[in-house]
Amino acid sequence: MAEIRVENLHKSFGEFVAVKNSSFTVASGEFFVMLGPSGCGKTTTLRMIAGLELPSSGLIRLDGDDVTQLRASARDIAFVFQLFALYPHMNVRKNIAYPLANQGVAKPEIKTRVEEAARTLRIGHLLDRSVSGLSGGDRQRVALGRAIVRNPKAFLMDEPLGALDTELREAMIAELRALHDRLGATTLYVTHDQLEAMAMADKIAVMNKGVIEQFDTPQQIYGRPATLFVADFIGSPPMNLIPCRGPLAPGATTVQVGETVAGIPAVLDGTTATDLVLGVRPEQVQLVDEGGLRGEVFGAEYLGTTQIVTLRTGAGTVRARLSSAETVTVGAPVGLAFRPEKLSLFDKATGRALR
Ligand code: ATP
Repeated sequence: MAEIRVENLHKSFGEFVAVKNSSFTVASGEFFVMLGPSGCGKTTTLRMIAGLELPSSGLIRLDGDDVTQLRASARDIAFVFQLFALYPHMNVRKNIAYPLANQGVAKPEIKTRVEEAARTLRIGHLLDRSVSGLSGGDRQRVALGRAIVRNPKAFLMDEPLGALDTELREAMIAELRALHDRLGATTLYVTHDQLEAMAMADKIAVMNKGVIEQFDTPQQIYGRPATLFVADFIGSPPMNLIPCRGPLAPGATTVQVGETVAGIPAVLDGTTATDLVLGVRPEQVQLVDEGGLRGEVFGAEYLGTTQIVTLRTGAGTVRARLSSAETVTVGAPVGLAFRPEKLSLFDKATGRALR
């Protein structure tokens, strides 16, 4: 398997910059997810790596070799799309065999490799069926079969589960990750769905407007968002972003939020910025009778073991994830306290995290 290295990759369509000086490395055997809203440049990045689009500038290396100018078929990379382009007039076996037949591989070897791929994907019993009668999940497995049968250096996947319903998508998330673990294949996966990204990735690159805002493990992306964009994009409901005031001396342990003082971890660098934003995950909000940031319960959404409580405060709307056992009364005055150890703090002007 192969390492994919992208160096200062840039792509403009006329005046419009779709991918801006992007650099990252997908380690050999890693499951890497590019995550971001529609139009942020994920597909364009993937298409450049696949060789389907030429970069305006920058380099793409596959195991150290510069493949930037190499045509797609010479790159030894398999591409799986959302709309699994199966050939409806061929059966499952022929669909999976297609890339090997195209390469002129001998028939007995094709048979062995197709059957092995089908076994890996647990669709051996479907080999002689027509693809037109298959369920969405099985069609997706056939498309994956066609990718893995080539035994490529890397897999590129563009929203491969986008067309499936929620239940099947959840099952396929687990299957895809298990397949990855079995094959040990370098995988670059594109999605706008944070749940898919969190569930599958070793590393995530969060993209916004052609720029990678953060490149990190799912845990760090969730726990330590590097920018306001990442903080707001990840999490459901997302992080509460509460305006507060600086400047902060180095080692400060509190910030002023509305009429209250919130504790922050004392590991901050100082900042001269005055407009700051406190980032609080809903599960870090606690309700207190006395003190805290004063507000009022606006509504509660029951989710089983937890509930999402919406609170109106002088510093804006705040959402809290509380145990459903906790009684909250709409309209009741409450105080909000935040668990200091996990709070984030951002400079509002730059959007960058101060910790
Ligand atoms: P989506 O999930 O919607 O596919 P994405 O993050 O994959 O979004 P891209 O498909 O990479 O986004 O597109 C990034 C931007 O580049 C979009 O604004 C798109 O309109 C633009 N774009 C892509 N291809 C072209 C092209 N051939 N000509 C002009 N603009 C393009």
